[in-house]
Amino acid sequence: MIKIKTREEIEIMRESALVVSRTLGMLAKEVKPGVSTLYLDKLAEEFIREQGAIPGFLGLYDFPNTLCMSPNSQIVHGIPNKNPLIEGDIISIDCGALKNGFYGDHAYTFAIGEIDLEVQKLLEVTKESLYVGIREFKAGNRVGDVGFAIQDFTEKHGYGVVRELVGHGLGREMHEDPEMPNYGTRGRGKKFVEGMVVAIEPMTNLGTHRIRQHSDGWTITTLDNKPSAHFEHDVAIVNGKPELLSTFKYVNEALGIVTDIEDEFRN
Ligand code: MG
Ligand code: MG
Repeated sequence: MIKIKTREEIEIMRESALVVSRTLGMLAKEVKPGVSTLYLDKLAEEFIREQGAIPGFLGLYDFPNTLCMSPNSQIVHGIPNKNPLIEGDIISIDCGALKNGFYGDHAYTFAIGEIDLEVQKLLEVTKESLYVGIREFKAGNRVGDVGFAIQDFTEKHGYGVVRELVGHGLGREMHEDPEMPNYGTRGRGKKFVEGMVVAIEPMTNLGTHRIRQHSDGWTITTLDNKPSAHFEHDVAIVNGKPELLSTFKYVNEALGIVTDIEDEFRN
């Protein structure tokens, strides 16, 4: 069942999303060669708690940490460890926070120093595909419209769209209805209405879309071990249109990226 949010609840959720946005911005300054994902995890936990929130993933389905840290061929759900990040790696950081009874859930894939051009392109296209999907999240459209838009855009670049993992409704639960696949058929699936809030999160592979689940029960990698990228935003429908609750503003400030792409999604 889809749980519709009031305007008031959406504003509470904006703060939960922004806790995560600020955390990703803080991490953007710390993500560099030699730093371990476990160290970054501890920084994030502290930073989230300082904002009056609690880590959204810690203990959820028994996940052991604050951040899902998925380097290189890992797609999502990677567990932080003491291994140092290495120049040329990429790292997908997925972060959740619970504040005032509502969750934020938001992800970014960072480059560690200089990376291969083809991987840089994968990151850029995946980030862009997120906004391509968000543009379709409006009253009257359906789940399949978002999925189709992301898949069509992604596959035109020759990349693989992960099928087994999907976006989702967001609210008092981390994962609510509806599921939001990054593939689909125009006009199919649940219809979007005012007050819906979802996490849209393309997971895009440089090579095959096929995946492998590891024996730790969490880590998921690409079947061909080629890199995978993951970008995620929290979005509400306000006045019939997509309204971004999370933002990459803090990441962009930290990385010196200048863009006005998010202005389109502020009502
Ligand atoms: Mg997430
Ligand atoms: Mg999510």
